[in-house]
Amino acid sequence: MAQRDPVIIVGGGLGGLTAALALARHGISVRVLEGAPQFGAIGYGIQFGPNVFHAFEPLGLRHEVLQRADTPSAVIMLDALNGAEVIRIPTGQPEFRARFTYPYIIIHRVDLHDVLLDACRRQPLVTLEPDAMVKFFRDRGDAIAVTTEDGRTFEGVALIGADGIRSRTRAQLINDGDPSPNGFMAFRSIVPMADVACDVQRDVVALWAGPGFHIVHYPLRHGALFNIVAVFRRSAQSERGAVGAYRAELEQTYRHAHPTMKALLAMLDLKHRQAVGDRDPIRRWHKGRVVLLGDAAHPTLQSLAQGACMAIEDGLCLADCVAAAKGDYDAAFGRFERARSLRTARVTLESRSIWDVYHADGIAREVYWQTLSERSDADVFQCLAWLYDGFRRPQETAAAARSGGD
Ligand SMILES: Cc1cc2nc3c(=O)[nH]c(=O)nc-3n(C[C@H](O)[C@H](O)[C@H](O)COP(=O)(O)OP(=O)(O)OC[C@H]3O[C@@H](n4cnc5c(N)ncnc54)[C@H](O)[C@@H]3O)c2cc1C
Repeated sequence: MAQRDPVIIVGGGLGGLTAALALARHGISVRVLEGAPQFGAIGYGIQFGPNVFHAFEPLGLRHEVLQRADTPSAVIMLDALNGAEVIRIPTGQPEFRARFTYPYIIIHRVDLHDVLLDACRRQPLVTLEPDAMVKFFRDRGDAIAVTTEDGRTFEGVALIGADGIRSRTRAQLINDGDPSPNGFMAFRSIVPMADVACDVQRDVVALWAGPGFHIVHYPLRHGALFNIVAVFRRSAQSERGAVGAYRAELEQTYRHAHPTMKALLAMLDLKHRQAVGDRDPIRRWHKGRVVLLGDAAHPTLQSLAQGACMAIEDGLCLADCVAAAKGDYDAAFGRFERARSLRTARVTLESRSIWDVYHADGIAREVYWQTLSERSDADVFQCLAWLYDGFRRPQETAAAARSGGD
């Protein structure tokens, strides 16, 4: 599809870069405006279910991603108080791969970002514009224009807001306030594996679940690094924000936790923290020539580890819709919403339910643990199938409808 003006994408995160690459592969030119001085990711680990490969495969990225990623031998949930294993998903076993076709992976965000950036740089139809913090946009009916904080204006045929959970594009388009904090705070650290002295399983994704707190850890870069995320319910005291206050409160919250968890906590750099939150799902993410994707459209809690995965799926789906609509952006964006809103809403709502399971206390906790521990591998695979089987691209849905298939 030849066209004079580019599609403008605000935000060069995983969602924005996927959309850019997918649009370029359809022959559509794009300009990505990134507010940071350079394109790049915050340096932590990230997990992906096998569904992410339903986007990476058609984009030609599967091989490069797999080279940099690791497959954990299992994803396990442990009782944070006594260390007992509650449930194990055998991600490293042949049965998992046979059921879901693709592997479960863990990867350094920087490495994944580099794969996407390199692929975008190889596309002549993608222009990457760092240091371009967008302030506002105008939809002129037949075109859009965005203005950056330093006063530059960029014009295009349509605008994709891929600017994350605190999206300015959303604020202007929908104006529905800030995301809702859920009262928890997350701390993330990466340490050399050689510095991990405590007795932990190093080749798994482990989640230690406790009343009001949890820790997730897993290896990165083929076992050279160890990624730790610790989460706890905030009190008024920790709102003050000093590292000393956080340390004291963490020690108080984790006082009954298993000794391994206390050892992991001691390794955390408490300067790097983030309030946890999401938004209630909505059905419409577009008006006219402007649309949202990823966290800007449907931010979710990290309990299913699917926020970035949804942003990547969005990027591919949106590009398919734009290519099929042949210049009718309103129609393309409407089709994109219909294709994506239920799946992403389910991720948001199920992530909230699982969040409550992780942090339950008392008899509710015992009931959840019993229910989970009774599940067979087949039960677990069945529970995850709606998610890990991937999403249907719009052209596949249309083909299935034509042939009367499901
Ligand atoms: C602790 C934690 C753990 C997580 N773990 C996982 C996991 O294991 N698996 C998973 O799938 N997801 C995970 N997530 C969720 C995931 O991080 C997000 O869902 C994902 O990053 C969203 O991608 P995005 O491209 O929509 O937005 P972002 O990654 O937020 O990217 C937005 C980009 O837009 C830029 N930007 C912002 N405003 C502007 C502006 N005005 N102008 C120009 N540029 C702008 C930003 O600089 C950034 O580059 C986790 C989240 C947290 C907090």
